[in-house]
Parts: sequence; C-alpha cells; structure tokens
Amino acid sequence: MASLVRLFVDAPLGAGQGITLTDQAHYLVNVMRLGAGDVIQVFNGRDGEWAARIEAASRKRVELILEAQTKPLQMPPDLWLLFAPIKKARTDFIVEKATEMGAARICPVQTDYTNSERIRQDRLQAHATEAAEQCGGTFVPEVADLQKLGKLLDHWPPERQVMFCDEGMAGQSPALPDGGGPWAILIGPEGGFSAAERKRLQALPYTYSVSLGPRILRADTAAVAALTVWQQHLGDW
Ligand code: SAM
Repeated sequence: MASLVRLFVDAPLGAGQGITLTDQAHYLVNVMRLGAGDVIQVFNGRDGEWAARIEAASRKRVELILEAQTKPLQMPPDLWLLFAPIKKARTDFIVEKATEMGAARICPVQTDYTNSERIRQDRLQAHATEAAEQCGGTFVPEVADLQKLGKLLDHWPPERQVMFCDEGMAGQSPALPDGGGPWAILIGPEGGFSAAERKRLQALPYTYSVSLGPRILRADTAAVAALTVWQQHLGDW
C-alpha cells in the first residue's frame, strides 16, 4: 500500500535497486507501522524521488526494492544563506526554513557580534535532511561548518552577488537588481553588524544593502523574510 512516508537514503537510486535500511527501521516499523508490501518514497539528493516497496521488515532492518521514479531531481536556485548562529532552537529553525524555502547551501558565519563560537554541523545537517523529507524536496542543501565572515569574504567568488540585510537600512526601500546568476543572502546576529563589518560590506562591488521593511526583525524572522523577498524577485516561485 502507498504511504506518505518520504525518506532520505544515502544510496544510488535506480529501477530494481535494493536498499537495506538499519537506522530508519525503527521509525518505519514501530512508529509508522509499515511492513512488507507497503510503498514509501525515497530520495538521495541526486537521483530524484523513487517509489520503494518494502520487501521485508523487522525492527532492526528494512529491505526496499525501488520501483519507479516519481519525481526528477529539482535543483533550487543557486542561492546561499549566510547567517550568524543564534540560540539553538532558533538556529535549528533557520536551517529548517532555509531548506524549505529553497536555499542551495547554508553557511553559518561568525560575525563580530555572534554570540556562539561553535555549532553542531552534523545536527544542523540532519535538520536540513528532515526538512527536505517533509517538504517534498528532492535536494538537500549542504550545511557548512561555522566560518568567520571576514575570512569568507577574503575568498569570496566575485560573481556571487550578496543581498546584505542591513538593519541600518530598516525603513528604506529594498533594492535588488534584476538578473540571475549566483547569489547569497547575509543575515546578522541578535546584536546586528559592527560598524567595521558594515563599512567593508558596503564597499564590496558585489554587495547590495537591503532593508527588510520598517521594523527590526529577529534574525530567524529576517532569514525567512529575506528568502521570501529574494525568491519572489529572482528565484523559482
Ligand atoms: N540589534 C540590531 C538592532 O537593534 O538594530 C538588530 C539585529 S536583527 C535582530 C538581526 C539581523 O536581522 C540583522 O543583522 C539583519 O541582518 C536582519 N534584519 C532584521 N531586521 C531588518 C531590517 N528591517 N532590514 C534589514 N535587515 C534586517
């Protein structure tokens, strides 16, 4: 029987291919109560989405056979989200929403006023995978490790334009140029950007300083708002 379960699997996908699941067996058998004959959807971020029939199931092991592709790979636009990590639950929220909103890569950055010095990259990557499972996406954005904003800018590819969400611009009209190409959105921490960061960012030829409206948004709200504005103006909506 067809089920609504979608799983990310780290295996090549193709007709007739067999896949053994161990880590997800408990979820499929005990939580979702699926067994032999049931059909789930699987994707690996590269080969689209496939219908997979459960051949055999136990609490520790599920054997799948792939039947047919149900969706081709749908890549998001070439958009990175750079954000300064905040409190744990709010950082998780940013990664989850960025995946749903179609970011191609998620880069936590340490800015002058960032209040956390480390992140659990593996946990954040798992959040991105779960969000892709839930939203019907066939692509999972990579979550990079935490890096210093200054160092990232030292090696920045100049063809990638930056939508610099600057709380200092609040209330002014948002201005984004037309046209495609690679982009990144930059969101600051609770404390905002330092004067030195603002000066450097404003002087870069590939950076556009934008306002997200007349009110100062929390960083997690700002990330979703910025992704919405960008997707509506330049993205795949
Ligand atoms: N402490 C700062 C202040 O009081 O001005 C606010 C920082 S805000 C909580 C976190 C980040 O969200 C900012 O660094 C910026 O990237 C973004 N942001 C929030 N509201 C914004 C707005 N109205 N325009 C542009 N960016 C905004």
